[in-house]
Amino acid sequence: MALAELYTQYNRVWIPDPEEVWQSAEIATNYKTGDSVLHLRLEDGVELRFPVDPSTLPPLRNPDILVGENDLTALSYLHEPAVLHNLKVRFVESKLIYTYSGIILVAINPYKQLPIYGDTIIHAYSGQNMGDMDPHIFAVAEEAYKQMARNNKNQSVIVSGESGAGKTVSARYAMRYFATVSRSSNNTQVEDKVLASNPITEAVGNAKTTRNDNSSRFGKYMEISFDQRYQIMGANMRTYLLEKSRVVFQSENERNYHIFYQLCASAHRPEFKYLKLGSAEEFHYTNMGGNTVIEGVNDGDYMMETQKTFTLLGLKEDFQMDVFRILAAILHLGNVQITAVSDERSSVSLDDKHLNIFCELLDLESDKIAQWLCHRKIITTSETVVKPIMKFQALNARDALAKKIYAHLFDFIVERINKALQFSGKQHTFIGVLDIYGFETFDVNSFEQFCINYANEKLQQQFNLHVFKLEQEEYMKENIPWTLIDFYDNQPVIDLIEAKMGILDLLDEECMVSSAFLFSFCCV
Ligand code: ADP
Ligand code: MG
Repeated sequence: MALAELYTQYNRVWIPDPEEVWQSAEIATNYKTGDSVLHLRLEDGVELRFPVDPSTLPPLRNPDILVGENDLTALSYLHEPAVLHNLKVRFVESKLIYTYSGIILVAINPYKQLPIYGDTIIHAYSGQNMGDMDPHIFAVAEEAYKQMARNNKNQSVIVSGESGAGKTVSARYAMRYFATVSRSSNNTQVEDKVLASNPITEAVGNAKTTRNDNSSRFGKYMEISFDQRYQIMGANMRTYLLEKSRVVFQSENERNYHIFYQLCASAHRPEFKYLKLGSAEEFHYTNMGGNTVIEGVNDGDYMMETQKTFTLLGLKEDFQMDVFRILAAILHLGNVQITAVSDERSSVSLDDKHLNIFCELLDLESDKIAQWLCHRKIITTSETVVKPIMKFQALNARDALAKKIYAHLFDFIVERINKALQFSGKQHTFIGVLDIYGFETFDVNSFEQFCINYANEKLQQQFNLHVFKLEQEEYMKENIPWTLIDFYDNQPVIDLIEAKMGILDLLDEECMVSSAFLFSFCCV
């Protein structure tokens, strides 16, 4: 709580502002406990009577001499406006995007390439102490590397922030740092392979959203293994919860996974002719967002990159062609026309061009696929019945099949990347890098947004636990005088979701009692 005696004339405070979020004001006359207004003078000279009671005194502004500090913990007053103002001053006046907050690095997304990531900068940070250099993602990476090498302790770098904040870019830089500082002269291939896993997983797991042109639609934990000499010997990747609904549905101005557009942009190449693709506008699954192009991105060029990276990972031509065949099949499946025959029945024509290409690409029998897209089989203890389904159910079945195929393909690619990054010999230590999908809210939010945001709440809790709770417990254990910081504990939010009779329990229950048929569609 703010101390009343600090609210004296000429001291400055921050007051809420509907546009600027916070605006600065100078105290015009001394405040006495019990006063119901604080007399303020805004920066444009306007006088203001700001209503207060002792518990709502506005946050005090730091003396100018402290502002611009490279560690937020050096500020006299540490609250939201102080943090925002300090970050703003560093960024706007000095183009500095990194600031420490104790052991945490805060990064601002500059949305333009800065000349601070070259190999010379990496070497400048190598071997240095975190506090001796300007804050940087490389300093955090160096700290992890040093701790690992010095104490033989495994480390993890956790990147967190809302969607579009710069997590994936930061995680990539951290990985590049490890690859560069641990590069041995005799085994350079491993580091390149570890880095090559990024463009591949991004091609199949990232997409354009309204918040980020390259938004991660899955979570990724990359464990980089080091040997006795602390050189990279391999890596292993674990992925979490791919947003499958995107395969069959995109909101306005959003896109499906990058790889589909890369493939469509390469449809004219002779080796892809047999996939019978065309431009992304021609396919339902790639055209729903209404804009298939990302400004400044050439999908055709990216396709070349994707192929090159597959090859670098040792994933041969035939594997790549299998992947592209399955992807093309998904696009054709999305264009299969389903017509309503009656209120209860639907059908797919055996002459449907896309049905036939889909079946040809996956070596399936088109009459069976046409039949099973529009019918369902019910097996009871006494009999087996085949029943027709309505058009909307058949469309759902088609989309469910597309999602299922894509999810398997994604897992399969991750599995093959992991195989390519496998190593012989014993891992001595590891550094983990966690990059998940960031918190997001759109005009329309699906179950998957709920899961993404739930994952972010859990990560935030882990952060709270680590930074605040454990630190405070340590102080209390040592009997060090300490006022408990009143940090925002998100346990109530987590409870609401995962506790007994929480949202997840209720959803489970609801799914159990609804018809098994509908349930099978919400689950795939
Ligand atoms: P997130 O993973 O948090 O959703 P990204 O890491 O994908 O966000 O960043 C979104 C975009 O912002 C990137 O595609 C890039 O254009 C830009 N960006 C992020 N971090 C940086 C950075 N350090 N320097 C330059 N541009 C950046
Ligand atoms: Mg990301």
